[in-house]
Amino acid sequence: MEKIVMQTPLVEMDGDEMTRILWQSIKEELLLPFIDLKTEYYDLGLKNRNETEDRVTFDAANATAKYGVGVKCATITPNQARVEEYDLKQMWKSPNGTIRAILDGTVFRTPIVVKGIEPVVRNWTKPITIARHAYGDLYKNVEMKIPAAGKVELVYTAADGTEKRELVHEFTGAGVVQGQHNLNKSIESFAHSCFQYALATKQDLWFATKDTISKKYDHTFKDIFQDVFVREYESQFAAAGITYFYTLIDDAVARVMKSDGGYIWACKNYDGDVMSDMVSSAFGSLAMMTSVLVSPSGVFEYEAAHGTVQRHYYKHLAGEETSTNSVATIFAWSGALRKRGELDGIKELEVFADKLEQAAIQTIESGKMTKDLALITTLEDPQVLDSFSFIREVRANLEAML
Ligand code: NAP
Ligand code: MG
Repeated sequence: MEKIVMQTPLVEMDGDEMTRILWQSIKEELLLPFIDLKTEYYDLGLKNRNETEDRVTFDAANATAKYGVGVKCATITPNQARVEEYDLKQMWKSPNGTIRAILDGTVFRTPIVVKGIEPVVRNWTKPITIARHAYGDLYKNVEMKIPAAGKVELVYTAADGTEKRELVHEFTGAGVVQGQHNLNKSIESFAHSCFQYALATKQDLWFATKDTISKKYDHTFKDIFQDVFVREYESQFAAAGITYFYTLIDDAVARVMKSDGGYIWACKNYDGDVMSDMVSSAFGSLAMMTSVLVSPSGVFEYEAAHGTVQRHYYKHLAGEETSTNSVATIFAWSGALRKRGELDGIKELEVFADKLEQAAIQTIESGKMTKDLALITTLEDPQVLDSFSFIREVRANLEAML
């Protein structure tokens, strides 16, 4: 078979620990034999981030903005222990945070659905993708404990010094108070990313807030989404045969539970924090969750939702066998390759991405899987494979398909 030729490079961001080991193996076994792989490589491993004073993360994010598609391995977000372990010049910021800030993007998380790893909610036969707004509200709040009776007000002082006041509460005793904010620009970017991703994946988009109670704050979210939709996306949605659906958050939760999945659920920051943990744990495994960062202008960066799997890495370094699940990382690559194929009009690349995913799914459905899945599968007598045997098994299935 001739190798598939690429046109535009993928921005490849290498990472840390066990996922860095898997990254190499995925490339060697599942990509390089079949694709004339064209990437612009950035080493986001902590050692190189430290050596470049984190310049490499900024360069990788800018390259992703330039080319439009990136694929990223999990990376260490340093804490004090890591500063000591890697003798860091400083506690470098989370690469994902840096990339998200530069691309102004929203993260979409989707479970990989396979037979044998059954969701707790029986009727969820298709994946539910959660999009979480990553700015403001509770996460940038200001709080105060009120010790005793007194008046609390919201005060806005305009640039010209004029004031606007709103009574929060006339306290007669002790209590608590909280101030939250958000920015129209941030909500607009979130809306664009959601509509873009719905179009890219041809799935309905759901959005929900509590606008009946929060008539100004939450209602602004609802209004901005509606304005952006009508102004830029309504006709594209109609052409794609998908819908934008707005409802109240409690109604959304009830409908989600009864749905069969297959849509994107856009959530405000807090709702997304809570609901993404609920949805991902109900679907079975963090190791089977993909993640894609989408910018308002339609730049895509793919990765696995899990971290660097540190514990397995130290076993690996000690020469012990590991059984680390590489499926979400494989799907990060297939997602990026498919997108690149779409943008460059390379059909073979899209077909390859589909087959790579099918090969991984087929491997699991045939009973061959890593330990994390073997522990939760409903299939009888699963065969537990080590990290590398699993990837080789996927390759065998892939070769049979090609
Ligand atoms: P983690 O790497 O996701 O791993 C937590 C545990 O979940 C593992 O110890 C393992 O459980 C299980 N697990 C996760 N992924 C797995 C896989 N692919 N296959 C099998 N089991 C898997 O999270 P963490 O230990 O909290 O974080 C480790 C490092 O990752 C940290 O330095 C953190 O900063 C970084 N991190 C990076 C990202 C990112 O780049 N997107 C995201 C999260 C965390 P068992 O040990 O029980 O087998
Ligand atoms: Mg959470």
